[in-house]
Amino acid sequence: MQATEETYLGHSLAPRIGEFIQIRRDIHAHPEMAFEEHRTAALVAAKLADWGYEVTTGIGGTGVVGRLRRGAGGEGDEGGRSIGLRADMDALPIVENTGRAWSSRNAGVMHACGHDGHTATLLAAARLIAEDVDFDGTLNLIFQPAEEGGGGALRMMDDGLFERFPCDAVFAMHNMPGLETGTFHFRAGPAMASSDYATITLRGVGGHGALPHTTADTVVAAAAVVTALQTVVSRNVDPLQSAVVTVGAMHAGKANNVIPDTATLEMSVRALDPQVRKLLKARIFELVEMQAASFRVKAEIDWRDGYAVLVNTPQETRFATRVAMEMFGAGRVNPEAKPLTGSEDFAFMLQKVPGSYFLVGNGGPGSPGACMVHNPGYDFNDEIIEPAARFWARLVSEYLKEPVST
Ligand SMILES: [Zn+2]
Ligand SMILES: [Zn+2]
Repeated sequence: MQATEETYLGHSLAPRIGEFIQIRRDIHAHPEMAFEEHRTAALVAAKLADWGYEVTTGIGGTGVVGRLRRGAGGEGDEGGRSIGLRADMDALPIVENTGRAWSSRNAGVMHACGHDGHTATLLAAARLIAEDVDFDGTLNLIFQPAEEGGGGALRMMDDGLFERFPCDAVFAMHNMPGLETGTFHFRAGPAMASSDYATITLRGVGGHGALPHTTADTVVAAAAVVTALQTVVSRNVDPLQSAVVTVGAMHAGKANNVIPDTATLEMSVRALDPQVRKLLKARIFELVEMQAASFRVKAEIDWRDGYAVLVNTPQETRFATRVAMEMFGAGRVNPEAKPLTGSEDFAFMLQKVPGSYFLVGNGGPGSPGACMVHNPGYDFNDEIIEPAARFWARLVSEYLKEPVST
């Protein structure tokens, strides 16, 4: 093992990890919603600049990129390899009830998905790499806004992210409650679901509840539509594929003796395969329109495409898995994690650049870290920062030292 590896793999980060735990808790106490991450972005930019990164702010709103170039890939040489590491910075509209000393000071806003931890971890890696890691090429640290539904990744890409900061590969991590602390979970191929939304408005003829024959009842039609939608997954999707069709909201009427002239349904639709995603949309339109027509009710469907299926490329996933295996051993690394029906806008970056998105355990069942993300009692486990930052550092060192091996 080289002297530099000896340093960055074990001895240099542990004594100063407290600095990054403080940063994590500071970000946690000051959560900011999508595209409002001004304080967080300023903190990130200032730290990166201190450690010698070229810092660009305001990419896709509040996005920040820190760039470090060394060796053959350094100034004036465009031939070197480049790698991008992404962290997300935004929080959620949740009232925190963790009772922690570093609880949110911003009422109704909470870092309930651990993006505070992802940001602090990437900052820890940034310092470790700047001070202790030799490499040959370009490192781009990407701090994105608005992962939680705002599509901050796409906004940064629309703002020229990969044209201004070309990357041969991109990687991102997310903490995962329920998995043992500091374990690493990789998966080649589809790993996170697409997530689309639809609002269905049914318009009929309202009237007196005593005279249903004079109306076109939207309540009965809506109930039939909801029931029919349950057949999309059970009857249309290949049983060996996965899909979710959820009607999460249903609104109609106000009084027991009035038949309402409109009803609305709100839907969430998910798939782990782009073809299944298309099938779901086609069948939902057919079923809704025909069910509505059968009740002499008109249907309008406002369909909004959300995040794409997240597909990890095999070569980059194998590379990251190998690095983790070498560092932590097979007992802490799962090379074949199950896919998740959650979604993630890093999917858009992976449509453009090869790479991999992986999970790091936030705490096993029964531990405090097992509380699921988006829960008011959730908190990022600070014990992840050190191993995950060292993993980032080693990934960069290996990627910018040799071609990806398969
Ligand atoms: Zn989330
Ligand atoms: Zn998240």
